[in-house]
Amino acid sequence: MADTFKGGIHPDYQKSLTSSKIIETLPPPETLYIPLSQHRGAPAEPIVAVGDTVFVGTKIADSTAAVFAPIHSSVSGTVKAIEPYYHPSGAKTTCIIIENDGKDTPDPSIKPYDKPISQLTSDEIVAMAREAGIVGMGGAGFPLHFKISSSIKCGKAEALLINGAECEPYLSSDHRIMVERTEQVVEGARMIMRALGLSKVTICTESNKPDAVKALKEYIGDASDVDVKVFDTKYPQGSEKQIIQVVMGREVPTGKLPIDVGAVVTNVDSCGALYRAWKYGTPLYERVVTVTGKIVVEPKVLLCRIGTPFQYAIDFCSGLSEEPGKVIMGGPMMGQAQYTTEVPIIKTTSGILVLSKEEAVLPPSTNCIRCGKCLRTCPTRLLPCYLNMYSDMDNLEELDKLGIDNCIECGACTYVCPARLPLTQKFRLYKAKLGEARRNAAAAKK
Ligand code: SF4
Ligand code: SF4
Repeated sequence: MADTFKGGIHPDYQKSLTSSKIIETLPPPETLYIPLSQHRGAPAEPIVAVGDTVFVGTKIADSTAAVFAPIHSSVSGTVKAIEPYYHPSGAKTTCIIIENDGKDTPDPSIKPYDKPISQLTSDEIVAMAREAGIVGMGGAGFPLHFKISSSIKCGKAEALLINGAECEPYLSSDHRIMVERTEQVVEGARMIMRALGLSKVTICTESNKPDAVKALKEYIGDASDVDVKVFDTKYPQGSEKQIIQVVMGREVPTGKLPIDVGAVVTNVDSCGALYRAWKYGTPLYERVVTVTGKIVVEPKVLLCRIGTPFQYAIDFCSGLSEEPGKVIMGGPMMGQAQYTTEVPIIKTTSGILVLSKEEAVLPPSTNCIRCGKCLRTCPTRLLPCYLNMYSDMDNLEELDKLGIDNCIECGACTYVCPARLPLTQKFRLYKAKLGEARRNAAAAKK
């Protein structure tokens, strides 16, 4: 089977800004802004009040909902406020604001799990993932405990694929995690494999991370339960659908999930977080973030406490050499533009990318010249130029027929389009419009 998928692009990766830099620990700031919304699923409810004392790892928000991940304090100190604050999604959302006492006192409940991994039951691993508040850390934010438990429940899991492809330009977080935290990645992957009742797990990465491949292979040695799959370097190889296609030769049908074709896919650092929950008893209150961009004076890969403002992390990298044009959470292809650098780092912040004004400027678009480049590029074999035409006509029926729901919003078509059409932005908007139209139609039938 080929080590890549059809279509895709080779953007200017700019990974060398950070790919060989050791993960540095960012000291926590004086005030942390911890949003209640950091995962897919039900919103969290605060279980602390203003004035309460909290410790590192104290659970501060919870819910009884099935699809949910609890939230923990990332420092010790005092709850200063619970109020709306900036959030990377663009809207202000409720945050628990904590004044750091600088003592870093761990919560008394934090202790290593008192059972070896080889004796853990599936239920215990699922409960551990839930209590630790672990989510998909590649950006999806799906609660890990629910991914595992729902896969067990439906009985469809055939393959566990650990995503370390990190195909987004500029980002090196997963790369450095695989190099420096190899044990956490492999042993966490084995824990999920155990919970799912599988006998093999495949860790997937790209050929542009040879030191990560070496570290993984050296750690795994002769063991036959963990495979390392090295893809050709191509964007968007890190997309779940492309990973499944290359490793399993299966396509996830429209409207279906990876588990519907037997796949469970999760990120390398989610595995690491699960292992840390077992080994040290620590919940997910910090994560590795790539702070990068050509105008960042010293780009770094940082271990940051959840709730740290972007600006604080940028300052730790000696600031910027010029006025920024755009700040993005994540990478340049699928990341989210930010309206302020006061937004806090959350569980899904893989990177903070700062572009210069020159880099951020959007060239004016012209009409489609029917060159067909977007057709050859789309990894999900959609017809972006036709999707563009029907978007301009506001024709939801044709967009539905053309399968706009299958657009993974990777940005590859926009990247190659010589007419500079904002294709991905339009498709994102029209996917949302189509979803709304379907909901309205369903409501009208009731
Ligand atoms: S953004 Fe959507 S239409 Fe464009 S290349 Fe990616 S998947 Fe295809
Ligand atoms: S790449 Fe752009 S110009 Fe070329 S066919 Fe697609 S939409 Fe049209």
